[in-house]
Amino acid sequence: MHSFRYVGQELYCEEVPVSSLAKKHGTPLFVYSQTTLADHFQRLDSALAPLDHLICFAMKSNSNLAVIRTFAELGGGFDTVSAGEIQRVVAAGGDPSKCVFAGVGKTEEEIAFALKQGIYSFNVESEAELARISRVAVRLKKIAPVAVRVNPNVDAHTHAKITTGTYENKFGIQFEHIEAVYARAAKLPNLRLRGLQMHIGSQLTDVEPFRKAVEKVAPLVSRLNARHGFDFFSIGGGLGIVYRDALASGSPAWWKTPEGRKILTPQSYADTLVPLLKPLGLRILLEPGRFLSGNAGVLVTRVEYIKKTGKKNFVIVDAAMNDLIRPAFYDSFHEIVTVRRKGGAKVSSDVVGPVCESGDYFAKDRPLPKVGEGDYLALLSAGAYGSVMGSNYNSRALPAEVMVKGRKSALVRRRQEIPEIWGNESVASWQGR
Ligand SMILES: *Cc1c(COP(=O)(O)O)cnc(C)c1O
Repeated sequence: MHSFRYVGQELYCEEVPVSSLAKKHGTPLFVYSQTTLADHFQRLDSALAPLDHLICFAMKSNSNLAVIRTFAELGGGFDTVSAGEIQRVVAAGGDPSKCVFAGVGKTEEEIAFALKQGIYSFNVESEAELARISRVAVRLKKIAPVAVRVNPNVDAHTHAKITTGTYENKFGIQFEHIEAVYARAAKLPNLRLRGLQMHIGSQLTDVEPFRKAVEKVAPLVSRLNARHGFDFFSIGGGLGIVYRDALASGSPAWWKTPEGRKILTPQSYADTLVPLLKPLGLRILLEPGRFLSGNAGVLVTRVEYIKKTGKKNFVIVDAAMNDLIRPAFYDSFHEIVTVRRKGGAKVSSDVVGPVCESGDYFAKDRPLPKVGEGDYLALLSAGAYGSVMGSNYNSRALPAEVMVKGRKSALVRRRQEIPEIWGNESVASWQGR
């Protein structure tokens, strides 16, 4: 569920008309609903109430300080993948002792930084990394809490670029090798074997792959816990969201008849997994990203031109692939709605941006209301892997971001000024001034 809906003819985010935000802050503009972020967190949190648990928001999905602060205030932790992300948590007033640090390529500097910050655990991806963390910990005279990431070799049946739980990809350590790895890790100095971690993929709309993975890994966790005295088991993130019926799914009524709809609710997720996890007697960590932030954000853009070719009706907008790369990168579908509701016959349209790439599109052959220059469109479900993947390609400034709560709205990232794009560049000394 989320808080974007039409009231009369106008699209609202909570109690604020989206058009007023677009007029005030310009476009392209990301708009986030704080109520939606909090609602998603709390639904998951209460569904998991039977377990000792910690929800660590995968902040790579949306690392705006205001978003981080929202989850920090709700008691959440953070799944981080770089020293930069840990610094962001600190900058947003979050607690580093609730951060886990994942990723296959942690540098010595990043490990040292994370140790000094007192993070909850390193999620370790290789034996070489265990050895490195141990070395850094010895040097700093600290004990490093670690969990090894197990690759359970369970196919999540999701897009190839976001599946992570099979032996085809770079993540984790093979299931069959894990016990030997822990036995060797136990001999390394200054490590505390604190838990086990897994993450099988992203945008899973079915609970089955989660069930399979937990069923396969839980006995391993028990054995390792008996030997090494664990605190936690992290089951990762990957909970999928609604992209196709994004607007409709904002209404509570839509969720009342889930038969035939491929959706994952916090309750169905918990109903399946809690009975498997509870007997472990460990704290359960979750690392959801998209589930918390995805439907909580939209990207608002303005129509610049309509261009008709023999075959196509192109709607050229002022947002581009550098603002939201998911369609180009993952062939993703984002529902597109007009900010002012329009009736009439739909026109098959390609919604494209100004960037000089054929891949710069948001929709192809999409039935859309007839729109014209100056109309605002909203690309829904843009709160996860949207702004964070933005770039300055074509020397386009990073867009502004706004957070809404009730009737209030705040600019939580101002639009980048064009000269800031090259602000850290210079010409070579021999090129003169
Ligand atoms: C990306 C990632 C997540 C979050 O994935 P979502 O699909 O956004 O929930 C969680 N854990 C790890 C290790 C990740 O790499």
